[in-house]
Amino acid sequence: MMRNSLTLGRIAGIEIGVHFSWLLIAGLVTWSLAGGHFPSRYPGWDRAAYWTAGGAAALAFFGSVLIHELAHSLVALWRGLPVRSITLFLFGGVSGLKREPETPVDELLIAAAGPAMSFLLAGGFWAATQLLPDGTPAHAVLGYLAFTNLVLGGFNLLPGFPLDGGRVLRAVVWGATHSMRRGTQIASYAGQGIGLLLVLAGITQLMGGAVLNGLWTAVIGHFLSGAAGSARQQQALHEALRGLRAADVMQADSPVATAVMPLDEFLYLHVLRQGRRALPVVDDGRLIGIVSVTDAKEVPQPAWAHTTVGEVMTRAPLTTVAPDAGLDRALGLLAEHSLNQLPVVDGAHLVGMLTRADVLRVLQLRETLGVRELRPRPQRVPGTGVDRSWPTAA
Ligand SMILES: [Zn+2]
Repeated sequence: MMRNSLTLGRIAGIEIGVHFSWLLIAGLVTWSLAGGHFPSRYPGWDRAAYWTAGGAAALAFFGSVLIHELAHSLVALWRGLPVRSITLFLFGGVSGLKREPETPVDELLIAAAGPAMSFLLAGGFWAATQLLPDGTPAHAVLGYLAFTNLVLGGFNLLPGFPLDGGRVLRAVVWGATHSMRRGTQIASYAGQGIGLLLVLAGITQLMGGAVLNGLWTAVIGHFLSGAAGSARQQQALHEALRGLRAADVMQADSPVATAVMPLDEFLYLHVLRQGRRALPVVDDGRLIGIVSVTDAKEVPQPAWAHTTVGEVMTRAPLTTVAPDAGLDRALGLLAEHSLNQLPVVDGAHLVGMLTRADVLRVLQLRETLGVRELRPRPQRVPGTGVDRSWPTAA
């Protein structure tokens, strides 16, 4: 779920939320329909009819975006990819998949489902208008919905990542080249290009006097371009961390705390002297909690000496990572839960601590040395002290 969102409920186990920005948009859409679009196209209704039609159209448009996102999510579930949430926000919706599709076919099906559903809705609403007399509020609302769903489907099919069409493009390149990286690169450059074109189109509209439309187009273009760029960075980060496991980077010799350790020992020795932010709390090697600066901050300084770590620590179950987990997954967990460190746990036993700083240091060193991919782990030839697979100068 995105920050600043209201949770509405669950559908098929998927958390449905609305970002606060959407409430603003709903208000703007209602106002522009009731105060401008409907009165100019359909004069002669009474005031209440304009506002009722405006509100109904805004609400049903919201429902249409939700159905578009649900189509993505249900296909993802069908392809075996867990879906966490759907959030409706400023520019439409986002489906929060727990992980990225693993094959180009999955990516293609999930991406195409949304626009396909929007086109279906557009067709359905258009068919419904044919059954109603022209000029009535119901006809006007259905016509508006047919049009907006058509635009929604069409806009999302623009071939720039992270739009649905960009995902389709990525899937096609990925399928053709067998490289997801290539697919992401090409689709994200296309996304930045389309974003830039939208910004230029918006500026042109602005100069032509269509201030609101122009601004809107430019903002969407800017947003798209930024999202495309960060998708490529994300991919690069994923690449940079490939081949590394949590166990490679963790501090295996991290000091630990026990539940009976006085809080002042934790703070004076480990935090203020050694600069650590947190310590795992163990009982006979088993992880029972974590004590951090944030936990200790609640306790006033005079009470430090007669407070124990066990009284303030955050108790298990904690977010942890297995030693064999990929470092990109570990970094994902750190980011997702806004953590600075992760206990590395084998079964219930603590084997080390992985901090955000550890991961960043490895990334920086790789950058400094220009190493893109790790070679296989060096293996010692028995009895010689020579590393067999280590590269030798050719
Ligand atoms: Zn979509």
